[in-house]
Amino acid sequence: MPAGLPSLRDTRFFPLLFDLPHDYFFAASEQTYYDLSMDRTRGCTIQPNRHWCFLAEIVEVVPRLTRPTYRAKDISGTTLVISFRFDDRALFPKVLKKGLAGSTICVMYANFHHFMDGHIGITLKEPKNVKIVPLGLDGLVMASEIVRAGNSTPDLCVFCQKPASKRCSSCSAISYCSKTCQTRAWKVNHKKECTVIQQMKTWSEFDWEKYDAHKGFIDFP
Ligand SMILES: [Zn+2]
Ligand SMILES: [Zn+2]
Repeated sequence: MPAGLPSLRDTRFFPLLFDLPHDYFFAASEQTYYDLSMDRTRGCTIQPNRHWCFLAEIVEVVPRLTRPTYRAKDISGTTLVISFRFDDRALFPKVLKKGLAGSTICVMYANFHHFMDGHIGITLKEPKNVKIVPLGLDGLVMASEIVRAGNSTPDLCVFCQKPASKRCSSCSAISYCSKTCQTRAWKVNHKKECTVIQQMKTWSEFDWEKYDAHKGFIDFP
C-alpha cells in the first residue's frame, strides 16, 4: 500500500482495545503485530512488523497516589484504564494537566494489559509513543476525513459554503472565503482541529504496512 492515511476505522492500524496484542502472552494474535526471530547471538527478539496506533477518548483522571491514571473509552465504547509508567516522573504534572475529558490519547504500538485489580487497559512506558490531542474521537474521525479527501473537494468556505480563495496557512487542508470567516471558524473549532489535522498529515506520510523505523511523536504530550 502506498503512503496515505488509513481510515481511523481500519482496525489493522487503529485497533480497538480487544484487538491489541497482549503485553504478557505471545500467541497467534500477537504474531499479526510482531515478528519473532531467533538468533544465535541475540537470542529471541520481537519487533513490530507494521505500525499501529491505539486511540482512546479521555473520560477522567483517576485520583491515585502513585501513578497518573486515566479512565478512557475506545472507538467502540469499551472503557479502559490507562496507567502512566514513565521513568521520568517530572512528566507527571503534564499528564495530569493534559487529562481533559473529551481529549483523545494516541498511543503508538500499544499493548493490552490486565491489571492486578481486574481492570483492563494499557500501560505507558515510552513518552515518545504518546500524544494527547484536543478533540474527541468523533472530531478525530472528521479531521481524518478532511485529510483523506485531500484537495479533491471543491474549494468552498468551511464556514459559509461560498467559493473560497484562502487556505488555512497552518494545515492547508481547509478553505475560507474571507478573513472574517477564517476568524469565526478558528474560534468555533478550527483552533483545535488544525492541530489534529497536522498530526494526521504526518501520519499520512508513512507506510503503515511496513515497520521501517519506530514512528513516535516529536514531543510528549
Ligand atoms: Zn465564508
Ligand atoms: Zn488549519
